[in-house]
Amino acid sequence: MVVDIQGVKIDKGYLLTDPAIHCTYVRRFGATNLGKPGMIKFFDTHECNKHCRELKLVKPSFDIPTKTTSHSTTKSPNTISPINLI
Ligand SMILES: [Zn+2]
Repeated sequence: MVVDIQGVKIDKGYLLTDPAIHCTYVRRFGATNLGKPGMIKFFDTHECNKHCRELKLVKPSFDIPTKTTSHSTTKSPNTISPINLI
């Protein structure tokens, strides 16, 4: 998903450059590709606007594990999350 883009208006429309893209394949699109965690973070703060409605876009739902109140889970120091594989 494209989450950031710059551009200028030209005679025939707009010239858009420098997109930041979140893709589940985190080895693509450079360091600004934050993968699924980036998508989730975007939608945490996104409020749909007229552009969403005009394009008939709907917020996706993500399968996010529910937080537990237990303190018994520990993370191995060797655990590497997908975001570290860029
Ligand atoms: Zn929206």
